[in-house]
Parts: sequence; structure tokens; C-alpha cells
Amino acid sequence: MCVEIKHQCVGGHQHAQFSNLNNILPASVIDQVYCPECQDKPEFDAATMLEDNGWIIKYDMELATYLLEKHGIDKELVTPEFIFDNRYSTWQGMSPTDMEESIRERQKIVELAKVDKQKYIETMKSWSIDRMNAFIAAGWRKAKAVQAV
Ligand SMILES: [Zn+2]
Repeated sequence: MCVEIKHQCVGGHQHAQFSNLNNILPASVIDQVYCPECQDKPEFDAATMLEDNGWIIKYDMELATYLLEKHGIDKELVTPEFIFDNRYSTWQGMSPTDMEESIRERQKIVELAKVDKQKYIETMKSWSIDRMNAFIAAGWRKAKAVQAV
């Protein structure tokens, strides 16, 4: 079970939704999140930060290294990319706001079912494929990883 983790960006513009695999790492491993609108972003530090499509996640690497080491993961391996790509602490869905948008869009399509059943079925079918393609086109890290498989 993954507990829903929401983290507001430093500038207070948006919430990013995270999923931490099996809760091996707690929510507090996410030190800071910067959305594309955030001002005064720190200088990018690859040792603690991951950049994805204009968003920056800063991890508490000391905590991450410590906890993952307890799970038998060599601390030499633990980088922000490792944490993100192995889902120890990553976006819930393809992007920080994927889940919220997905729920909102799905509701709209469900509304369509009441008016036009055929259109609803067609829209439902193409919706998830179109969404995934949009994530890939936008260059989100997780979407690109899915595409590479
Ligand atoms: Zn922001």
C-alpha cells in the first residue's frame, strides 16, 4: 500500500502528488518541491535534486541513504535518479498533477455518458492513449521510461 503524499511547491502555487514505494521512504524524504512557476530556485545540485519537465524535487539524501541501506541497498547507488526511477519516491502517475487531472477529466467523460453513449465509449477508449502520448510528447521522465520499454 502506498499512502498518498502531497507536497506543496515552495512558492505555494501547486501541489505535487507523490507515491513512495511500500512506504520504505517516508513523506519527509521529499525536502522541497519547486514547480515551473517558482521563483528563486536554488542552483541545481544533482547530488540531491531531480529535474523533470521544469519541476525540481529536492530529496533528503541523508535520510534516503540511511533507510535504503537498511533495506540492503548500497549507499553508493542511491542518487535522486535512483530514488525516482525505482519508485522509492516518485510522482503518483506520470506527472506531479496527473492524478488530480485524471480524476477531473474522467468525471467530464462520465458526464458525456448521460448524453451520448456511443461518443462516451469512443472517448473513453482514446482518452488514456491520448493522455499517455501527451505525457511522452511533453517529455515527462516517467512517460519516457514507459515508452522505452
Ligand atoms: Zn511553485
